Amino acid sequence: MQLILSGRWLVSMDGGAREEAGISVAVAGDSIVEIGLNLAAKYPQAELLACPYGLIMPGLVNVHTHAAMSCFRGLADDLPLMDWLTRHIFPREARLTKEIVYYSTLLSLCEMIKSGTTSFNDMYLFNKETARAAAAAGMRAWIGEGFFDFPSPNYGELENGFVYAEELFSAYKDSDLIKITVNPHAVYTCSPALLQRAAALAERKNALLHIHLAETRDEVKGCVERYGRSPARHLEQLGLLNERVVAAHCVMLDEEEIALLAQRGVKVAHCPESNMKLASGIAPVQKMLGSGVTVGIGTDGSASNNDVDMFGEMSTAAKLHKVRDLDPTAMSAETVLRAATLGGAAVLGAADKIGSIEIGKKADMIMLDMRQPHLCPLHNPVSQLVYAAKGSDVIHSVINGRVVMRARRLTTLDEAAVLDEMEKIGASMRRTAL
Ligand SMILES: [Zn+2]
Repeated sequence: MQLILSGRWLVSMDGGAREEAGISVAVAGDSIVEIGLNLAAKYPQAELLACPYGLIMPGLVNVHTHAAMSCFRGLADDLPLMDWLTRHIFPREARLTKEIVYYSTLLSLCEMIKSGTTSFNDMYLFNKETARAAAAAGMRAWIGEGFFDFPSPNYGELENGFVYAEELFSAYKDSDLIKITVNPHAVYTCSPALLQRAAALAERKNALLHIHLAETRDEVKGCVERYGRSPARHLEQLGLLNERVVAAHCVMLDEEEIALLAQRGVKVAHCPESNMKLASGIAPVQKMLGSGVTVGIGTDGSASNNDVDMFGEMSTAAKLHKVRDLDPTAMSAETVLRAATLGGAAVLGAADKIGSIEIGKKADMIMLDMRQPHLCPLHNPVSQLVYAAKGSDVIHSVINGRVVMRARRLTTLDEAAVLDEMEKIGASMRRTAL
């Protein structure tokens, strides 16, 4: 036995929350091997992460990010999506370098670990750097290089993009923690031929296909004008909808499309704060869940959120659907917490490995210190986690059995060095006119 987490509450997502002093989870290798009381006394040689008011829970799963977009945080806010993308983000992305992507990803990973996330699903550019950063941090990650019809700031012509993707697949084929995915950006940036080629690659590699789908009214309008069908129907027509698809946003879906996604086994990444900030709308998550669609929660990139804190995202997800429907029973704390843990794991095809604290599962766990003014008294742990807890309440984090944060100090990353580097990158970005 190498590691024991010991606290007072256990929210395992496998059965109800438990409260007992000394409740413990024991880890051997990369896995959870025992759950019980006072396991530290039974295994005195093991490292002990203890907190008398500690709450142990599965690490959060962020199912849609662009981690390196942290470098654009706060740079162009309060703009319409297309204006934001075409006039601010795309021109700046054209000047990205490997180094900027590497450090910006590290910055997001510091933030993710410090706010309880242990897995993320990333689509971006220069994703060899994203993978290198994830490996340095010891994060569990699904990573893929973005494909689109125009030349990429990373690989140039599309043909090179497929070579780059193949190299990523080869480099990480034996990795426990990093899985490579196929990422056609969206129906408005990818031709039908590109979408089908990407789908064939995903099929051949048995990989996830991660795409933005039905994010805005303009996307739907443009797709109908070009192809005579909505984005979801367009993908169906092209034969792309299946169980390996992770569709981000899905704001603009009608009932027939929701039934179609359910039938095809498509998974959905719900990104409420990004959808609110870019005024895209509110995804019909309750209807999706009611129809049997697997839904996880994502933050999207930090340029449209503006953080990667999944505690904030859970709180927003729980409240947004209530105000839309004027129904306080919509999206309960339990539903939201499930989507951010086991639901996210299911979106990524990993519900048998992560997303809950069960014997035999991978040890991806966090502990929060609940002895805080904003968390007291503690009547209901799940409610407290969704409506009152903050990312900064997370004190310890373990990924695949490895301690990545101990008493809020990162063990795998040099946080101060990352912040210093990002200050320099940020200053140089502000100096460069578009
Ligand atoms: Zn996105």
